[in-house]
Amino acid sequence: MGAGIIINGQLYRRQSGFAGEIGHTTVDLSGEKCPCGNYGCLELYVSIPRIIEQVKTALLAETKSILRNICPDINRVTWPMIIKGALQGDGLALNIIDKISFYLSTGLTNILNTFDPQAVFLGNELSIAGSLLVDRLKAKVSQRMFAENFRKMDIRISKFARESPVVGAAAIVLEKFYTGQLNSMVFKQ
Ligand SMILES: [Zn+2]
Repeated sequence: MGAGIIINGQLYRRQSGFAGEIGHTTVDLSGEKCPCGNYGCLELYVSIPRIIEQVKTALLAETKSILRNICPDINRVTWPMIIKGALQGDGLALNIIDKISFYLSTGLTNILNTFDPQAVFLGNELSIAGSLLVDRLKAKVSQRMFAENFRKMDIRISKFARESPVVGAAAIVLEKFYTGQLNSMVFKQ
């Protein structure tokens, strides 16, 4: 899980290419070890494959949920199905969205207090939760951030949504091309 940081219209990049790795900021000091070597990384709590595994485990443990009606085969539960369940008021699905917003707001607050940005755009898989997630994030972040900074900042869904990583990658290549860092682009089928 990464973040693209835009400063004065330019994508902020370090030489190592690892700027904006918000997924590996600590949100739980006593959390489990992450493959990156750190403990309690944000990615451990908000990655979609992990979320789906948690839902499957809960369903196998007979937790009451309308997700069984939405997806009779527990092993085929998807993130959009969990969102559909949450929109229909399912307790298990809403609990998952609440947990994501709790950990994401913790990680975001660290970044927001550091950079004081004008806006945050959510992209990729998380973005398809729409206002279900954004409204919760705004509420939680507003409780954690300096009030003055929060009033000047907005949290929105990227219009590129699930295509955000692809659009971002293409934009980086185009920027390098137009600024002369690439001599030519070769397109292969
Ligand atoms: Zn990590």
